[in-house]
Amino acid sequence: MNNYNIALLPGDGIGEEVCMEAVKVLRKIESKYDVEFKITGGLIGGAAWPEYGNHFPEETKTLVAQSDAVLFGSVGGPVDAQFEPQWKDCEKNSILAIRKFIGASINLRPAPIFKELAHFCPLRPEIIGNTSFEILVIRELSGGIYFGDHSRPTPDTAFDSSSYDRATIEKMAKFAFQAAQNRNKTLHSIDKANVLETSRLWREVFEQEAKNWPEVKFHNLYVDNAVQQLVKWPKQFDVIACPNLFGDIISDLTSVFPGSLGMLGSASFGNKIHLYEPSGGSAPDLEGKNIANPIAQIYSAAMMLRHSFEMNDAADAIDNAIIKTIQAGFRTGDIYMPDMNETKLNCDEMGDKICEFI
Ligand code: NAD
Repeated sequence: MNNYNIALLPGDGIGEEVCMEAVKVLRKIESKYDVEFKITGGLIGGAAWPEYGNHFPEETKTLVAQSDAVLFGSVGGPVDAQFEPQWKDCEKNSILAIRKFIGASINLRPAPIFKELAHFCPLRPEIIGNTSFEILVIRELSGGIYFGDHSRPTPDTAFDSSSYDRATIEKMAKFAFQAAQNRNKTLHSIDKANVLETSRLWREVFEQEAKNWPEVKFHNLYVDNAVQQLVKWPKQFDVIACPNLFGDIISDLTSVFPGSLGMLGSASFGNKIHLYEPSGGSAPDLEGKNIANPIAQIYSAAMMLRHSFEMNDAADAIDNAIIKTIQAGFRTGDIYMPDMNETKLNCDEMGDKICEFI
């Protein structure tokens, strides 16, 4: 039997509620597969503040360092109270700090677009069509303009510099082609090679790597064209690989297609340990009401099984259970539409329903 250590960091707001549902699903997986998960909870974000006066305490760092993977909820307090000490710089101190701690360099954000939820998608129904699909955005996290020098030499001039090296792009390209090979064998790489030197290097490396993946249909796309194409004809995309800045923007564009933040899981790949978390925040408006959508957290747990533990069958079982749950008309409030013959569920009932379908 395989054993895995999971650091569970629910954080703030709805983090605790949705993490409990993900744990429920992991326990269900244990009952069906030859695996045992040792799940150890830790404090992060505002939740860590009262005890440690710190958002990412040493105890939590040790827990993370000793784990095989991290399942993270979300951090952040009520938006109108963020000047208070326990919330101040909350995300800066914990989410960015933990990504740095694990050496996160690649981020995965799948956007699942269900035909059953097409009415929540801001694109017209004829653009979405009547089949479900998913777009996977893979974003380089460690380089580019976010990590260059930023300066303000005079009040009227400002500089931000961007750099990429071949090794960083090669790592990203291999990862993206492998992901495309495992999925629909289509990869779009996004750059601005008509203007930026870093993009010309990016394109050169991707084109070189493409030679190793003859089955993958590979396309280069300028970022300005990419955003237009995504809105006009999203179904032409499956895997999209982006440098850091463009990935930040493109993944936010695709994140609105599923219709709710509660549907979006994500993964950040570190040097050894990877972090899995919903794309949304702590949703203080839903906290403690048992009405948040746990699917984003459950998707994140499925990604953990797939990418950290190589449990593809179990991950598929969770993904399929989510599909069946949606197809059968079960909805949390964020994806519920009255008069559509749907069954509205609470957060914990949604977790139970997904377990039933596994
Ligand atoms: P948010 O993502 O928490 O909420 C935005 C909207 O999406 C809200 O209407 C919320 O109810 C809804 N939503 C989010 N997750 C949902 C779910 N699982 N089910 C149903 N609805 C869901 O963003 P915000 O309100 O701007 O920020 C709240 C706090 O979260 C802030 O402190 C912010 O800084 C923090 N935040 C944290 C992260 C993170 O931990 N990675 C990311 C974004 C924001």
